[in-house]
Amino acid sequence: MSLIQTLAAGFSPVPGCLQGKTILVTGAGDGIGRRVALAYAEYGATVILLGKTQEKLEALYDEIETRKFPQAALCPFDLNSTDPLAYKQIAETIKNNFGNLDGLLHNASILGSRNSIESYKAKQWLDVMQVNLNGAFLLTQALLPLLKQASSASIVFTSSGVGRKGRAYWGAYSVSKFATEGLMQVLADEMDNTTQVRVNSINPGATRTKMRAAAYPAEDPQTVKTPDALTPLYLYLMCDESIGMNGKSFDV
Ligand code: NDP
Repeated sequence: MSLIQTLAAGFSPVPGCLQGKTILVTGAGDGIGRRVALAYAEYGATVILLGKTQEKLEALYDEIETRKFPQAALCPFDLNSTDPLAYKQIAETIKNNFGNLDGLLHNASILGSRNSIESYKAKQWLDVMQVNLNGAFLLTQALLPLLKQASSASIVFTSSGVGRKGRAYWGAYSVSKFATEGLMQVLADEMDNTTQVRVNSINPGATRTKMRAAAYPAEDPQTVKTPDALTPLYLYLMCDESIGMNGKSFDV
């Protein structure tokens, strides 16, 4: 089992550390993905914004424009798609527009319902596994050739506390996060010593977003950290300081 890592105290990203890099962020329209995509743009990256709701992606695109960060690219896409060709099409578009890809943040997820395994609806189970796990697999597989062409590349998966220890009534979400850790470890081992691609995962911990509010409706949101607190670790894993870091699970 991989050792859970925390970011060394005192790390602060150097301005411009992502200059010249192209990074795709899934679930970029809201919550953690939105904040992290903005941070990547602020530190110089061209960010490809993938998400389900086009208007949310356009709002972030406009904010990146207004703040005079490198122009972003829009990629409206539903990760519920099971068609490998649809993912290959994304790769083809990136190849034609950017040549290669330096970073891939798998952030999009859905919570599903909070039910016992006994009562969990099969359709919902499949949807959660598709968006949280299978979509990430299909996207990774399609984009790996472009990531391997970069001088160094980083893939980051998003885990959860319930992806490290199972908890009653977290159903498919919990199981999908365990499997995400497994996908990260298998891929990291395959990339180790043979490519310049590093692969790690982050458990962001309790963070003030719509997903957190849906999971804990009685909680006062003011008691939970905002996505701002997460940006140093997400920046670290995309910038060159983390070259050589591979197969690790990080907790914020
Ligand atoms: P949010 O629900 O706030 O945001 C999720 C994002 O994923 C949205 O932009 C959403 O797009 C996108 N998304 C959902 N379904 C799809 C789909 N089918 N296709 C494409 N995009 C989709 O979640 P958080 O920001 O809270 O979570 C981000 C990540 O962090 C997730 O992986 C989550 O599991 C993880 N995490 C979060 C914690 C927390 O406390 N917030 C704790 C532990 C882990 P749209 O809005 O258009 O639907």
